[in-house]
Amino acid sequence: MSESLHIICPACQSKNRVPLDRLEAGPVCGRCKQPLFRGKPVEVDSTGFRRLIEHSEQPVLVDFWAPWCGPCVSMAPQLAAATTRLEPQVRVAKIDIQAHQDIGAEFRIQSIPTLALFHGGRELARQQGAMGANDIVRFAAEALS
Ligand code: ZN
Repeated sequence: MSESLHIICPACQSKNRVPLDRLEAGPVCGRCKQPLFRGKPVEVDSTGFRRLIEHSEQPVLVDFWAPWCGPCVSMAPQLAAATTRLEPQVRVAKIDIQAHQDIGAEFRIQSIPTLALFHGGRELARQQGAMGANDIVRFAAEALS
């Protein structure tokens, strides 16, 4: 049996089974033919967020943010830079907790930005406050080690 992972398509949210040896080869979605990795964080709503952390077999790094939060906005390019280094091993997602307050409440987000790393439906680590790209990559690596 070959090793593979369930990857959630960022465009249509369908589940794709991708063999591990194809992960680095620019896999595309079987349904919508969009790339499964785009070198940037995936913006998710509440439904997409739940689907991602519950069904993705990849680790998922989530940025809980809001448009009014200055440090969140200034961290965005750092998160984007980190994403190009974390993909395809880690999926990077962002959720606007002003627009999706149910998620902010359920996950008890007390200040933003907050970064959290999920794997297998469980939260492995969380950190509050803006970080640079190197620190974001290190945070994800340490959470998974
Ligand atoms: Zn798709």
